[in-house]
Amino acid sequence: MTYDPKLLDKAKRHPEKQKNPDRPMGKKPDWIRVRAPQGKVFKETLDTVRSLKLTTVCEEAGCPNIGECWEKKHSTFMIMGEVCTRACSFCNVATGKPKELDQYEPLRVGVAVHEMGLKHVVVTSVDRDDLADSGAQHFVKTIGAIRFKSPETTIEILPGDFRGDMDAIDAVIRAKPDVFNHNLETVPRLYPTIRPGARYFRSLRLLQRVKDVDPSIFTKSGLMVGLGETKEEIAQVMDDMRAADIDFITIGQYLQPTAKHAPVMHFWTPEEFEGLERMARAKGFLMVSATPLTRSSYHAGEDFARLREARNEKLAAKTVVAAE
Ligand code: SF4
Repeated sequence: MTYDPKLLDKAKRHPEKQKNPDRPMGKKPDWIRVRAPQGKVFKETLDTVRSLKLTTVCEEAGCPNIGECWEKKHSTFMIMGEVCTRACSFCNVATGKPKELDQYEPLRVGVAVHEMGLKHVVVTSVDRDDLADSGAQHFVKTIGAIRFKSPETTIEILPGDFRGDMDAIDAVIRAKPDVFNHNLETVPRLYPTIRPGARYFRSLRLLQRVKDVDPSIFTKSGLMVGLGETKEEIAQVMDDMRAADIDFITIGQYLQPTAKHAPVMHFWTPEEFEGLERMARAKGFLMVSATPLTRSSYHAGEDFARLREARNEKLAAKTVVAAE
């Protein structure tokens, strides 16, 4: 089995972007360094993914961390096909008309998690605006299949916004994932150009809803920087996230996948990322991950353990204060 990101046919994957002018991609700075995909465990992960006919966002989005993550058997499964019904200008996932849902996919994901012996798994999806429930039941079935095959595995989901349909969102919350992750991606001013099919406050309301219905579920949300946002706008997003009681924020550098995608306006330096991390910590998030290569599922397993610890410490501190 081979892995070659160059095999992805860019024109076929993004037909709606072919009318865009070419935007020069420029050279990446030195601090954006990644290991080339290789190694025994990397190949084992690839074999499992291929033999069970699974899709991963690691491949579909051309994630720069694939060499490191797959070598640690950490991959993020992408369910409901490889074709997304939206066309965000930052995203490398193929867009167009998706196929029918594969009813056996939840079971295959359950088998893969079991075979790979994963302690923590992240499941994301394409946006399926063509489905009446935007794919909520498919998420419910996938969570059920993982729990059935691997009851000890903790589950993190990273779905779309279900078009704000609260019944669909509530069904997924009742399936009780351990982490409900949904990315705001960018600041509200840039939504019309970067995330035209989404709405900033709809995404925030979704995350708030998770906490309202089941406060035991951790919530997590991510931002990509480098699209032209300002530090003040990021601070406002952080405040909005805290107002929605979001536990964990991830912030990473946007990298332009092809010349037809939104251009990188700024490469935030490692020092600037440290500044963003300090700002987020000061605003009271339980966990913060802010580095150029941070992605919402990067180091998700280790981060989940730390997240749980951080909450236990916070609860213990509250109990001590109450007892005094
Ligand atoms: S960071 Fe996430 S998407 Fe990227 S390779 Fe790792 S698991 Fe996959």
